[in-house]
Amino acid sequence: MNGTHTNGHTNGHINGHTNGHTNGHTNGHTNGHTNGHTNGHTNGYTNGHTNGHTNGHTNGHTNGHTNGYTNGHANGDATKYKNPSLQVTEDHRIKLVDSPIEEPGRGEVILQVKCTGICGSDMHLWKSGRIGSLEVKGDCILGHEAAGVVVKCGEDVTTLKPGDRVGIEPQEPCEQCFLCMEGRYNLCDNVKFSGIWPDNGTIQRFKRHPAKWLYKIP
Ligand SMILES: [Zn+2]
Ligand SMILES: [Zn+2]
Repeated sequence: MNGTHTNGHTNGHINGHTNGHTNGHTNGHTNGHTNGHTNGHTNGYTNGHTNGHTNGHTNGHTNGHTNGYTNGHANGDATKYKNPSLQVTEDHRIKLVDSPIEEPGRGEVILQVKCTGICGSDMHLWKSGRIGSLEVKGDCILGHEAAGVVVKCGEDVTTLKPGDRVGIEPQEPCEQCFLCMEGRYNLCDNVKFSGIWPDNGTIQRFKRHPAKWLYKIP
């Protein structure tokens, strides 16, 4: 799978903390290089564009929040890592960590993340340590706008198989509260959201994710 050229285009409505329209265009060559351009966050409209080439290089441009332009650069020799991950810390640092590769539980898969965007929310979590009431209280892998390939399926996964290319819906709502029951699961208060502490996000090579919240792409 490495060294192959992959092109993924995800397009969807993802509602969670951003509360709006997310449009992600991803383009990937190998692993771990993320180049994100994010524009416009104020009205909940996020446009993510990612491009991947090599390993362990992250470059983020964010426009339109308060300062208009932010440039984050993290560099490390990710080639020696099995699962390089970009983590934010409680004291507003960014670090590259070799994270354990998890096993899929019932109804879950392990994905190889091919591309992931960096959006204004990620920048907020890093620079401010929070988005509203959502606080970074410990190390957490950032990222929530991504596409990948299924590499392993857990028990009872019937909708996906290894090799399937998928767009990732980063939220896992409780499915028990009345908002979830009404179908307005994007407003669920008990949601687990990838990339928001304590739930790890998509800026890592291998991510565990419920099959239910993955969408097959051509
Ligand atoms: Zn976002
Ligand atoms: Zn709920």
